[in-house]
Amino acid sequence: MKWKFIAIGLAMGSLSFAQGVDNTCVATTTKGTNCKVVVKVGNLCHHHGGKKSTTITIASAQCSGTSKSTNQQCKLKTKHESGRCHHHRN
Ligand SMILES: [Zn+2]
Ligand SMILES: [Zn+2]
Repeated sequence: MKWKFIAIGLAMGSLSFAQGVDNTCVATTTKGTNCKVVVKVGNLCHHHGGKKSTTITIASAQCSGTSKSTNQQCKLKTKHESGRCHHHRN
């Protein structure tokens, strides 16, 4: 059972990587998994010694996801570091 979940995780990871939308932190978490924090500057998030971008943490941005019903950019505001509202996060 354990291996099945790992395989699914790897498939999902490579899928999001192939899309190339977000640049994520290259560091490994204390749990041994890849850090999924989206990085705007460099290739490390601020948790792993990278530079912290103040604009991301303070301003709420329009969600970068696409609404499935209208096929237009989601109008919701989000302060999440991925730049996407809770509907459009993985
Ligand atoms: Zn990180
Ligand atoms: Zn959204």
